[in-house]
Amino acid sequence: MGKSYDKVWENCLKIIKDNIGDQAFKTWFEPIKPIKLEGSVLTIQVPSQFFYEWLEENYISLLKTTIKKEIGASGRLEYSIIMQNSFDNSQPYTIKVPTSNKKALRNPSLSIPIDINRGSNSSIPNPFIIPGLQKINVLSQLVDSYSFDNFIEGDCNRLARSAGFAVANNPGKTSFNPLLLYSTVGLGKTHLAHAIGIQVKNVFPEKTVLYVSSEQFMQQFVDSVRNNSHNDFVHFYQMMDVLIIDDIQFFSGKEKTQDVFFHIFNHLHQNGKQIIVTSDKAPVEMQGMEPRLLSRFKWGLSADLQQPDLETRIAILEKKLYNDGVEMPRDVIEYLAYSITANIRELEGALISILAQSSLNKKAITIDLAKQMIDKFVKNTTREISIDYIQKIVCDYFSIAVDMINSKTRKREIVQARQLAMFFSKRMTKLSLASIGLHCGNKDHATVLHACRTVNNLIDTDKQFKDCVEKLEKKIKLQ
Ligand code: ADP
Ligand code: MG
Repeated sequence: MGKSYDKVWENCLKIIKDNIGDQAFKTWFEPIKPIKLEGSVLTIQVPSQFFYEWLEENYISLLKTTIKKEIGASGRLEYSIIMQNSFDNSQPYTIKVPTSNKKALRNPSLSIPIDINRGSNSSIPNPFIIPGLQKINVLSQLVDSYSFDNFIEGDCNRLARSAGFAVANNPGKTSFNPLLLYSTVGLGKTHLAHAIGIQVKNVFPEKTVLYVSSEQFMQQFVDSVRNNSHNDFVHFYQMMDVLIIDDIQFFSGKEKTQDVFFHIFNHLHQNGKQIIVTSDKAPVEMQGMEPRLLSRFKWGLSADLQQPDLETRIAILEKKLYNDGVEMPRDVIEYLAYSITANIRELEGALISILAQSSLNKKAITIDLAKQMIDKFVKNTTREISIDYIQKIVCDYFSIAVDMINSKTRKREIVQARQLAMFFSKRMTKLSLASIGLHCGNKDHATVLHACRTVNNLIDTDKQFKDCVEKLEKKIKLQ
């Protein structure tokens, strides 16, 4: 007895921290504020409905065991959710769950840190002039904002990032030479390549670092041949301590360019200079590249960047907002991060256009505005499956009328159809538990969560039921 709520929560956090990844901890536990401890009920405040649902879906057993360890077997958890109003001028307020007492508390506590020392964003560098032999001050062409500080680490990029960091602090001296970074578009190759260059310059200001796109390299090469300055071109590149070439896949099929790059590469490598290249494919999948060049890539390390998980996407958005000194409601950030998964550039694009829309048209930043923007931004590769459609398929399958799902009836077969509709809606749409509940008989999110668990349990234990779920899933996906 007599333990204070913040002490209890602090102890809980210690246990939780040991059990989940760093980024997940930062995203889902650091924002939580303990509020009070009454008897054995600990109340914690969470920043949004989505946040709460995510905790319930993903961390509930961890939370339960932790709370019981700290408070004892009767330990319970209660949430206080900060609700964002869709109308701009009203303050956020909190609601409490799971108690039935719906007293809304005023709470203006949602905030995002504001502007501190923005990176001095230097203008786009000039193309450099080929200087001949003497060592002159080369314009590195590095973009300040693409720094390691601004590069969020996640499972998706851990290897590439740490290899890049190692290289930056010891260029040419690690076994990661060359370092080849590869991924599909918009996952951070260019950013990471710049970050390495910037870090080298920070640690070794005297080193000559150059970032070039492969198009720029090719253009300079072609020009040098035309101007009879081919030797200058080669010497210039052989002078680098760190050479970064972005999007090397554009060299494919360009034999002459590959040839000259091969010689530059050998010279640099033999002299302990660092080479970093990026590509949209792994070396084994690169086409139109000379085998001798590909074999050189294998000397070092090839590291890929993968699609970031939800925590990392949220952290990237938050970092960007923080750098720009802009605030955005937490639920909108979550919505964006949840909706755009495959490409960080698209994620940033949607963020920027929401901010622009909101400031140009003096519209509040709301989920609705975010939805409109996302529809414009995300390529419609997969057609969105609607909840109505899911209900229709499920009801057809059991030969019941669709409105039965929305009725109050507790007849076994209807309940099952309703639960299945909820289960598929959760799996196949981006709707929150709360809105799925609303569209399936005006139930609350807890009912939806319960339905999903029931269906999952049945799938595990009842073979016939499992077959039925699989059939339904096929039918839904068919359309
Ligand atoms: P690529 O070169 O792979 O196409 P970019 O490096 O241009 O991708 O990244 C696209 C955008 O996403 C850039 O604005 C970049 O700053 C941002 N970005 C990518 N990865 C991260 C990350 N891990 N942390 C923060 N921003 C990132
Ligand atoms: Mg790029």
